[in-house]
Amino acid sequence: TRKFLVGGNFKMTGSRAAIGEIVGRLAKADLDPNVEVVIAPTSLYIFQALEILQNASNKQIQIAAQNVYHEKPGAHTGEISVEQLKQDGINWTLLGHSERRQAGESDELVARKTKAALDGGLKVILCIGESADERRDGKTEEVNARQLQAVIDAGVKDWSNIVIAYEPIWAIGAKALRAATPEEAQGTHAEIRKWLASAGLEGNAAEDTRILYGGSVNAANSKSLASQPDIDGFLVGGASLKPEFIDIINCTR
Ligand code: 13P
Repeated sequence: TRKFLVGGNFKMTGSRAAIGEIVGRLAKADLDPNVEVVIAPTSLYIFQALEILQNASNKQIQIAAQNVYHEKPGAHTGEISVEQLKQDGINWTLLGHSERRQAGESDELVARKTKAALDGGLKVILCIGESADERRDGKTEEVNARQLQAVIDAGVKDWSNIVIAYEPIWAIGAKALRAATPEEAQGTHAEIRKWLASAGLEGNAAEDTRILYGGSVNAANSKSLASQPDIDGFLVGGASLKPEFIDIINCTR
């Protein structure tokens, strides 16, 4: 059985004060203990968030970086290494978010980062998904398979520390057309699982790998999305900054 996971991607938002308030609220919230919760603040605020969570009575909330670099620590201005995250108690990273891909990260770079992160002991929320044009042209499956195959090609056969986040670009953020419907998301998640089954991975990856949905998830649509058999959680952007994030975390309770 796949444990439900809800991630909050804070993106490049907030201030010390705002992040303190958001994380402080989560740290005090009554959360469904059966749900794994991972929040990803801007790297500048990671340790502030970590400190708040370490002082909280509820130790359920974990922290992810939003990105990580694949090279060993050294002369890489502006980057953060896997080792730096690990040594200070960060065990997760997002990778391959469409906003990173739009900023120039190729499938191969995302795959190399995924390999380096896993080798260094981080768990990875690997984001994939198609654009509006690609969906219109019937290329959704092909795009997802290409982005996932790159990770296999980088040498990752053990997917037990990967969580896939399916985030159709057309459903993300303030400019989103709309959220995917539960049926659309379920259909694509089932295709991703089919692809995992045929990919020659170790163990029972198709059955065991969690596939999150991301894109305009909110308190109102989370329940119906979560009721789909192949939706194992969410990666939430805008709504993760608001009190309703707690309702999204608790939507399967
Ligand atoms: P929104 O929830 O704001 O649409 O963002 C989704 C997302 O990109 C999460 O990574």
